Amino acid sequence: MSAPAPASPPASLFHLSRPAAGPRARPRVSRSRCVASLASQPPTPPPANANHLVQTLCASGRLARAAALLQGLPAPTQRTYKSVLLAAARAGDAALAAAVHRRLKADPVFRSDPFLSTRLIDAYASLGELPAARQVFDEAPVKSIFVWNALLKALALADHGEEALARLADMGRLRVPVDSYSYAHGLKACIAASTSHVPASALVREIHAHAVRRGYGLHTHVATTLIDCYAKLGIVSYAESVFATMPERNVVSWTAMIGCYAKNERPGDAILLFQEMVASDEDLVPNSVTIDLLEEHALEKVPGCSWIEVKKRLHMFVSVDNKNPQIEELQALIGEFVTQMKNDGYVPDTGAVLYDIEEEEKEKILLGHSEKLAVAFGLINTGRGEVIRITKNLRLCEDCHSVTKFISKYAEREIIVRDVNRFHHFRDGICSCGDYW
Ligand SMILES: [Zn+2]
Ligand SMILES: [Zn+2]
Repeated sequence: MSAPAPASPPASLFHLSRPAAGPRARPRVSRSRCVASLASQPPTPPPANANHLVQTLCASGRLARAAALLQGLPAPTQRTYKSVLLAAARAGDAALAAAVHRRLKADPVFRSDPFLSTRLIDAYASLGELPAARQVFDEAPVKSIFVWNALLKALALADHGEEALARLADMGRLRVPVDSYSYAHGLKACIAASTSHVPASALVREIHAHAVRRGYGLHTHVATTLIDCYAKLGIVSYAESVFATMPERNVVSWTAMIGCYAKNERPGDAILLFQEMVASDEDLVPNSVTIDLLEEHALEKVPGCSWIEVKKRLHMFVSVDNKNPQIEELQALIGEFVTQMKNDGYVPDTGAVLYDIEEEEKEKILLGHSEKLAVAFGLINTGRGEVIRITKNLRLCEDCHSVTKFISKYAEREIIVRDVNRFHHFRDGICSCGDYW
């Protein structure tokens, strides 16, 4: 909600973004005190930097003082109104938003600046006050596209899908130009708007076709929303084709597609796409949404998957991995260790390979086990003396266990592997499990 115009929030997110972890900070003052101070305190002459002061008070949650100051301000700026409305929304304080609304109505700037109507609609919408949001829209002296978009967003947020789509249609009828946000909000409304006669998929496809005709179909924001919609509807192939044709993708678009696979029972594809994302040249940093999606829906379901965090980035390996750009280097490194081990009398434990193939082939498969790749990756990409920490979603196999013990000694590294059963702490050729796990 902090973006400047356009008034809608950045594409991020309707279902992709989550509120920050932990309870929201509540203001230390009661709602009634805030409003009382706004309504009844005699105005005191505002300090010279009062606008700035109100904004600072809002940022630190001191809403009662901010509200009192706002009341006495002769000329609150757009930014000051925005700060108080954002703070009211964050604090869940509908009465404060209504008090700001009253203050705005008395301010001539409200009639000329549609941005303020937009902010007010946004605040009411996030407070669940849809009737008040509608009222602001109806009374808005200037109904710019941003005001329309704010209403669409409010309606979609409140699951008033049919009404949102009706308003989107009104925009066309009244020749209000639609933009990527209008389409995205409309798409978000489709599921709530579906009826037994018109399924959500038909509505999404209709808006999709419309957006394409108007040149918005490949807009990152619209396309990402389309991927989310098709994901929810279980039409993975449509999401794939949207993703494949996008000229520009950001971390949200990648996450939407990864989520589409993950939530539609295609955990392997989700992980492969994640690897592609991390390996891409676009310098995309997966966010907590990406990681949560994978942890919740994919990692546990794919056989032989190991992951390691290096410099705050998660790297994932599936057995016999060929997507990782460093794969040849990793395999060469593992090969070196194994040659060394064989000189010391080690015999690869091919018992873990269940296929009926030549011994040499079995050894190759063993070398490609995800956990070995993760260890090699850790050795290459972390500094000497750093502990290598790996997670694996299955029980560690005998061969990986032996090889990791050897590497811990030979490379003089502590390696900690958490497998599905327990922690293995490898140090100086010995594992904390005492080889029983
Ligand atoms: Zn293994
Ligand atoms: Zn062990």
